[in-house]
Amino acid sequence: MIAAIDIPVVKVERSRLADTPRENMPFGKYFTDHMLEADYVDGEWKNVTIRPYQPLMMSPSMAALHYGQAIFEGIKAYRDTSGNAYVFRPYDNFARFNRSAERMNMPAVPEEIFMEGMRKLIAMDKDWIPALKDHSLYIRPVMFATDTMLGVRPSETYKFLILLSPTGPYYAAPMKIVVEETYTRAAPGGVGFSKNAGNYGGSMLAATKARQEGYDQVLWTDAFEHKWLQEVGMMNVFFVIGNVAITPSLEEGTILAGVTRDSVITILREMGLKVEERRISIDELLEAYGKGTLQEAFGTGTAAVIAMIKELKYKDFHMNFDPGKFKVAAEVKQRLADIREAKVPDVHGWMWKI
Ligand SMILES: *Cc1c(COP(=O)(O)O)cnc(C)c1O
Repeated sequence: MIAAIDIPVVKVERSRLADTPRENMPFGKYFTDHMLEADYVDGEWKNVTIRPYQPLMMSPSMAALHYGQAIFEGIKAYRDTSGNAYVFRPYDNFARFNRSAERMNMPAVPEEIFMEGMRKLIAMDKDWIPALKDHSLYIRPVMFATDTMLGVRPSETYKFLILLSPTGPYYAAPMKIVVEETYTRAAPGGVGFSKNAGNYGGSMLAATKARQEGYDQVLWTDAFEHKWLQEVGMMNVFFVIGNVAITPSLEEGTILAGVTRDSVITILREMGLKVEERRISIDELLEAYGKGTLQEAFGTGTAAVIAMIKELKYKDFHMNFDPGKFKVAAEVKQRLADIREAKVPDVHGWMWKI
């Protein structure tokens, strides 16, 4: 049991729900009536409140804007046909949030604020959770440095927020991917395993250049040789070679430990597939492709869940796939949907009831 905390609530005078589209909302465009807010001051978390979603006041010298101490999470909630609300594996996101905080020299957020604050906030804005198939409520916890001075040192004050955003189906079209050989997302000893804002900022130029070449995203490779595969865009990556599923291992600290990645590994093993978490190089992919044993390639993440890869370009080589024939990815996707839609028993305890 989590210690109960008293979270004061300031309610909106008038809900915006009726003015918001109820289906096919684009990702992250609409926000619910309320947000959770807390401030870290004098070494402790204070002012935990739920209040109307609204602009914040900030100083132009706010530390997060200048030095980038900012981390976030991405979680989804669903509503079943009886109106019950469930969040998918939020404790894993809570744990990861505090691992990101530690790496970015930021204070941990206590469980009673993160988890109970999220529960209370979602319960309040429950009517905003779309009940339609493949729709969800996207949950965005975020923390950033709020000291107002330009000296370079860890901030002494921080703000923590939880925002809620109703979202329609994320149509994950099969992706055309180019293997990245110039830019680097993450290096050992760096911050690649943390979900900090700068990782996203640093990735955008590579993605834009890929798009200019007619590709959707890049397949990140290691910083030293540009040959060991890391992630696809901001998703974890899986390959099926000769009926074995392979995904890059986490020990170097260059891979974000996706909750979807972990769920997919669990389900693949339940399907009877062998799963290997290890180093995998572009040379191994090319060789398998040449032999005809590279069967599937796909990315995993909370927003899209599973995104198939239909083309991989490396130098002048083009590897083409037919995602319509991806049996493994399709079955994992279906099994995850069945768990979310409560069509099968939740044997893993992944669905957290509000
Ligand atoms: C968030 C994220 C993922 C996916 O993690 P999930 O927990 O599955 O949503 C993968 N890679 C990067 C770089 C990320 O930031």
